[in-house]
Amino acid sequence: MLAGRPALLRDACERAVAYLDGVASRPVAPSEEAVAGLLELGFPLPRQGLGATHVLHVLDEVGSPATVASNGPRYFGFVTGAAFPAAQAASWLSTAWDQNAALTVMSPVAARLGEVAVGWIADLLGLPSGIPGGFVTGATMANATCLAAARDAVLTRHGWDAGRDGLVGAPPVTVVVGAEVHATVRKALGIIGLGRDRAVVLPADGQGRIVARDLPALDGPAIVCLQAGNVNTGASDPFPPLIEWAHDHGAWVHVDGAFGLWAAASPATASQVAGVAGAESWATDCHKWLNTTYDCGLALVFDPETLRLAMEASASYLPGSGAESMHLTPQSSQRARGVEVWATLASIGRDGVGDLVERCCRLARRFADGMRAAGFAVLNDVVLNQVLVSFGDAARTDAVIAAVQADGTCWCGPTTWHGQRAMRVSVSSWCTTDDDIDRSVAAITACAR
Ligand SMILES: *Cc1c(COP(=O)(O)O)cnc(C)c1O
Repeated sequence: MLAGRPALLRDACERAVAYLDGVASRPVAPSEEAVAGLLELGFPLPRQGLGATHVLHVLDEVGSPATVASNGPRYFGFVTGAAFPAAQAASWLSTAWDQNAALTVMSPVAARLGEVAVGWIADLLGLPSGIPGGFVTGATMANATCLAAARDAVLTRHGWDAGRDGLVGAPPVTVVVGAEVHATVRKALGIIGLGRDRAVVLPADGQGRIVARDLPALDGPAIVCLQAGNVNTGASDPFPPLIEWAHDHGAWVHVDGAFGLWAAASPATASQVAGVAGAESWATDCHKWLNTTYDCGLALVFDPETLRLAMEASASYLPGSGAESMHLTPQSSQRARGVEVWATLASIGRDGVGDLVERCCRLARRFADGMRAAGFAVLNDVVLNQVLVSFGDAARTDAVIAAVQADGTCWCGPTTWHGQRAMRVSVSSWCTTDDDIDRSVAAITACAR
């Protein structure tokens, strides 16, 4: 087995490099034929293994064409970064290490890189220095992690130990969200037992920001969920007045900033998230705007003890002390996410992160300008990397989006914003250029005509 390993890994490396060489020139969505070919992979589990070389061959021949070229320059769906070369390479090396990042004793290097990366990110995002953070699968789990810590902390202040006794019989926790709260905050609230649909909803303005007027009084344990970067418009809530109001009522403030928190990394956009450091917890992603490999979310909480109390697991064979990943996240065994984050940040530096954010925002404005120049309506104020385009009524907009996806020059998905159907454009890839925007605008315009 071991004897064949170098050849197998070189084969994998060559196939991966060839894939990446072609990712910018192929159609962004896979062909129908390639997707239909995936049926081939569903054969009955063979009694005797097919061998690693053959399996790798099948993966590449059948699997590679059925990927979506999101690791390229013209994928504008959801909020999807590509992967920086350093992230990609670090991920390959890290896969060879195959470390379990649960505990320092299991991987000193993973623990160290994770800790350093969390410090760098807190610094880049303008958050308090020295705060603990845990790498999780994505902002969904980061929201759940932070909100679990929030739930336990606000109940502890009201004399209830939710970690020990659960929620049955606990004082009710008031949860406040904005009208344009992200679906995964609701999902996270459901997971941690506070309910998807029992939150008090504050009205939002035309860009999805919570309106900081006529705010209600809050009684008892309370959690206020704010947002940096609305998934449709890119707009962020006005943090200073909302955080002040929440704190006047003794509430914990949680911020969902999956991509929007990164606005802090560029002087051109930092004012949009001014004051966000005053919250108690923050959820963000590295696999979106930072362009690391998947999956890589980050939960940050202002106080190490609160996060640890909510997440720790104790057993006689487990080290209990210190900032161990398994005591800061819902996971025990976990991949070494910090390796790719550290490598990405170290390779591009502080200026590189700022340039990335600024460039994506500039390219989003270029996209919006191109759409307007072609006669189509841009529905949002393009303040960050998100653009919403309408091509007329819902049926027509959906038809244009379908044509754009089939054309393959770029990929954009649909959304509905305040009752109007729109094409969503999210410029989140490190390798997107002016030319990619212009080619995409031209292709979309041709599809719409
Ligand atoms: C993408 C996103 C999430 C969920 O992030 P995942 O990494 O997919 O779990 C949460 N909130 C916002 C605002 C997002 O854009």
